Amino acid sequence: MVDILLTNGTIVTMNARREIVTDGAVAIEENKIVDVGKTPELKKEYRADVEIDCSGKLVLPGFIDCHVHQAQALLRGCADDLSLVHWLKERVHPLQGAFTPREGEISSKLCCLEMIKSGTTTFLESGMHTKYGIDGIAKVVEKIGIRAMLTKKLMNLPGYADFQEAIVESMREDGKTAMLENIDMYKKWHGKANNRIHVWFGPRTPGGATVEYFQEIAYNAKKFKTGITMHLGEVKDDVRYMKNEFKMTPMEFANHCGLVGEHVVYAHGVWMAEKDFRILKETKSTVCHCPASNLKLASGFAPVPEMLKAGANVALGCDGGPSDDCYDMIREMKLAAIIQKGRLLDPTILPAEQVLEMATLNGAKSTLWKKDLGQLEKGKIADLIVVNMRKPHLVPVRNPISTLIYAANGSDVDTVIVDGKILMQNRKMKTIDEEKVIEEAQKAGVEIDKRAGLKIGPNWPVK
Ligand SMILES: [Zn+2]
Repeated sequence: MVDILLTNGTIVTMNARREIVTDGAVAIEENKIVDVGKTPELKKEYRADVEIDCSGKLVLPGFIDCHVHQAQALLRGCADDLSLVHWLKERVHPLQGAFTPREGEISSKLCCLEMIKSGTTTFLESGMHTKYGIDGIAKVVEKIGIRAMLTKKLMNLPGYADFQEAIVESMREDGKTAMLENIDMYKKWHGKANNRIHVWFGPRTPGGATVEYFQEIAYNAKKFKTGITMHLGEVKDDVRYMKNEFKMTPMEFANHCGLVGEHVVYAHGVWMAEKDFRILKETKSTVCHCPASNLKLASGFAPVPEMLKAGANVALGCDGGPSDDCYDMIREMKLAAIIQKGRLLDPTILPAEQVLEMATLNGAKSTLWKKDLGQLEKGKIADLIVVNMRKPHLVPVRNPISTLIYAANGSDVDTVIVDGKILMQNRKMKTIDEEKVIEEAQKAGVEIDKRAGLKIGPNWPVK
């Protein structure tokens, strides 16, 4: 007897041989996958409490989004056509600075809802300000059922690269207090929700902290045996700052501060130097590629194929509401695949299969669950999604990986299971009232704009 049996699907196992099982089935007991194989065989072997018919559907590991700003979901559409520092100073920070814990909670609900509905089962939060209400956000994650690495934003300088006052007053935090809060958050939430919530450290970008403070973060992450995530080499200004101030490349700087290792994830890495690729490989650190954000903010094209070729681990992320405007990893995968072909004038440079590895396996490698996530195999944690391929924009399906990356989008995700629990079935959420979240989010967006004193609307005249 098993809890859930998914039957009649095309199973993209992502196992070592990358096998795809047609007329396949997956058996789940509690939070683990207990078997993967052909449907007739598994049906003979197991009786199930719940059987989910996956005819015409793909079954694959859930996506791991390695760069998410939950508090920016409510900021969707607040800032177009601005470069990063202006984008931060004029829109994102004034709005986020006006947040109350209630808005932190609404934004987290909205973000998690969108992620689950588009197939993300695990995410890495980039760094929360105390004013978003950290406990409220952790409770949302606990209740909605997604897997998460939560972080506190850590800073002891108000700068971004060499822009010394880049962080607006309302978003600044005291270094000592922030560090204590991150440690408290670790003690309170790490391992909670059946080990579905992990707590990492979330330093600001270079320029936002002193070298000594970065080193203290690295020391604490080692002490608590957890991870670190920070923005690194996102824009050209970062490189100029590290070169002028320290005569170092982004990875030389990270190495110098001790911010390297298996559980260290750098968001963006657009401006990594060639010698950085080797440090990435040697330290087993991860770059999280965020193509939509990099293009919208005109940050540049990350050298993804070059980093992969050098043996670095490159994962994928959606970033935030005002930089990407959506948290849909399927859309992100398409962008990741096609921009490199255009950039390097080489259609073979980043195949669909490799991009799917970035969104699943490579993400898993950077987490503390690395042995348990990213593959559908006996003994792994049951975090998986079902994608409906019987749609006008998806048929005929020849190579299902190609169809998923180039033709599908998040709305094609039909069913989502995390830690052996069904969070969404036939697109219906089971752990949260979707309509209520949409209502609350629409209202909260208008209220925040007003409180921050910003008028944001159409550029064309409204009658
Ligand atoms: Zn970011």
